[in-house]
Amino acid sequence: MPVINFESVKKYVDVPDDAIRLLAHPERQQIFNLNVHHDQGLLLQTDAYVVYYSTVRGPAKGGIRFWNDVTLDETTTLAELMVWKTALTGIPFGGGKSGIRADHHNLTRFQKTVILKEFVHLLRNDIVQGAYIPAPDMGTNPTDMAVIFGETHITECVTGKPVGVGGLPGRLQATGRGVSTIADKTANRILKKPIEKTRIAIQGFGNVGSWTAHFLHAKGAKVVAVSDIDGGMADPKGLNIPELMSKKTETTALAELPGSARISNEELLAMDVDILIPAAAGEVIVPANAKNVKAKTVVEGANHPVVAEADPILQNKNIVVVPDILTNAGGVVASYVEWHKGKSGALSSEQETFDVVDKLLSEAFVKMADLAGKNVTDYRSAAMALAVGKVVQSMKERGWI
Ligand code: NAD
Repeated sequence: MPVINFESVKKYVDVPDDAIRLLAHPERQQIFNLNVHHDQGLLLQTDAYVVYYSTVRGPAKGGIRFWNDVTLDETTTLAELMVWKTALTGIPFGGGKSGIRADHHNLTRFQKTVILKEFVHLLRNDIVQGAYIPAPDMGTNPTDMAVIFGETHITECVTGKPVGVGGLPGRLQATGRGVSTIADKTANRILKKPIEKTRIAIQGFGNVGSWTAHFLHAKGAKVVAVSDIDGGMADPKGLNIPELMSKKTETTALAELPGSARISNEELLAMDVDILIPAAAGEVIVPANAKNVKAKTVVEGANHPVVAEADPILQNKNIVVVPDILTNAGGVVASYVEWHKGKSGALSSEQETFDVVDKLLSEAFVKMADLAGKNVTDYRSAAMALAVGKVVQSMKERGWI
């Protein structure tokens, strides 16, 4: 089932039946048997999934998730979200995603590198030709992207690289930067108060969660709770985010750090805050716990954190959900800048990256909010409608419909 709800989108935009027929399914799904064997025996044998949901607007763009429970369905959902994200922000890409089903926590750097090299080997033609442009996602990082670059030596074939190997200053922080920009807009337009007056809870303290916390703290917001997979910490006076960021490493759990009161992830999701930002795994707000959400707004930092069945429950409680396809699009916008600079060889500064992210996301926020008009609890349909409109236009221009 696609994420998009064509019925709710149709109240804003005309979607021809032929477009619905095409967009109801991914263009291409591939399952690889990833097998890595060395002198000491089998290192890993697992599935890897690669999905191109729609390439009507450009090459398939989307991260590589390296996690022990990825599935073909999840990879397909994430690839579809990339279609709407790239369309909504107006960057010339389609939507793709890949997933390697393995627990990266138990791998050494060497082992992960060997697995990634095998993955590139299986997908080599698409990556070299620029038909699929990977980036980091859960469980992958800039070093992993440098490994992919090392296999091709084509700067623009992968984004999210370290700055020393053709990466973009500010790309690492870009998703969190965009989430903080959208949280700021949400405070002003929906909560009618400046971001400095808001109390915010963030689930996830990986790339997206930690940089979101960093930028919101820098804007003067009170980040009262953060968590990772093992639980989190809360302080009604506001957490010291710079200190947490300096102590937290990829392998340190928040629970190991000294300080504030411990809370569970379920407690965090039920906190009475101005803005709740799920920035970890998908599908964390479901009908069973949606009724407990007390936040005034939910700004979706993660991909697909609120399932379709939970959306109406939040709407009935007048909780405004600002959708993932806008909120976390800062990463793919920065990836576009990195891809573009990679092709031209031009250099860029961190501030330039942040400026592009802020500009494209702010413009899309205003368009979405204006289109939604009074019906602010359903920003998702308005954002989707804007994205679908662009995809349908491209389909017509290419003679697909
Ligand atoms: P990451 O691997 O850097 O961090 C993930 C964080 O989530 C960690 O703190 C982990 O402990 C926590 N976590 C994982 N499962 C959890 C669970 N069930 N409950 C609570 N916490 C859990 O990943 P990331 O890059 O920060 O990605 C986070 C989310 O944002 C994902 O949904 C991803 O698809 C989305 N996203 C990432 C980017 C990007 O540029 N990295 C861009 C757009 C969207």
